[in-house]
Amino acid sequence: MSDVQKALSRYSAVLSGDERPLFRHCKDLDHKLEQAKEIFENCALCERRCGVDRNIEAGHCGVREPRVVSEFLHFGEEPELVPSHTIFFAGCTLECVFCQNWDISTRPDSGRHYSPVEMAKLIDGQSGKAKNINWVGGDPTPNLPFVLEVIGHLEEDIAQVWNSNMYLSEEAMGLLDGVVDVYLTDLKFGNNECGERLAGVKGYWDIVRRDHILAKGQAEVIVRHLVMPGHVECCSEPILDWLAEEFGDTIRVNVMAQYRPEHHAFRYPEINKNLSIDEFRKAYKQAFELGLNLVD
Ligand code: SF4
Repeated sequence: MSDVQKALSRYSAVLSGDERPLFRHCKDLDHKLEQAKEIFENCALCERRCGVDRNIEAGHCGVREPRVVSEFLHFGEEPELVPSHTIFFAGCTLECVFCQNWDISTRPDSGRHYSPVEMAKLIDGQSGKAKNINWVGGDPTPNLPFVLEVIGHLEEDIAQVWNSNMYLSEEAMGLLDGVVDVYLTDLKFGNNECGERLAGVKGYWDIVRRDHILAKGQAEVIVRHLVMPGHVECCSEPILDWLAEEFGDTIRVNVMAQYRPEHHAFRYPEINKNLSIDEFRKAYKQAFELGLNLVD
């Protein structure tokens, strides 16, 4: 059996529940939680590295206590993940001007607070109905210590999906090592300039590439790439080339066509329109010809 077949076979086993999720083998969850709380007090959970004590004040993302906007069994994720118990946190570490979940990502005070024990009970209450727990938002990164604490209280043996923009710090990626079974990532921009202009962060392309490599060393990876109007050459092409070069067909790639102008997209002429069929075809053709392992 090739390495790729072994990886996919283990991945299917984890997702189908035939294999115990990794976090049950994570002996140092308590230690990770201690480390996470230290980082929380001088916040460097994402690469904005605000350095604030989140017990006292919010950083750039505006998130203080974790707030959950909605949680439900999701049947619209990639086929291998559904049904997925999806937990949507308020707040985000990026500021994408075209955000399609802006009502969640830009309102870190929305939703309601759960204690870790309450959240663990809520998850265990859905026992047997979902293949995995899917931590998302906004973005789950500002609430990483909370997620570790919830996992520590879970009765149910269930796979953990980290559904994220991957702008995490290296320290935060280390905390997830051995805890996350599947990284479900959004890879948006193929260079730092588009990341700064459209998501308000520095070093986007350098950081997310590093974190994808770290993620692949820890768990299975499914990458989502939303093709955007006017960004095929500068973003889709370098992203798809890099994924092929770095990972070949060992990760799943979902090339997505559902871009629509939302939020502040009207201020940026090239993205203030729907994606054309020709632009999507161009990106998809490239992904296909590169031999990527595409989600249908
Ligand atoms: S998670 Fe929020 S507070 Fe922490 S470094 Fe990132 S933006 Fe700043």
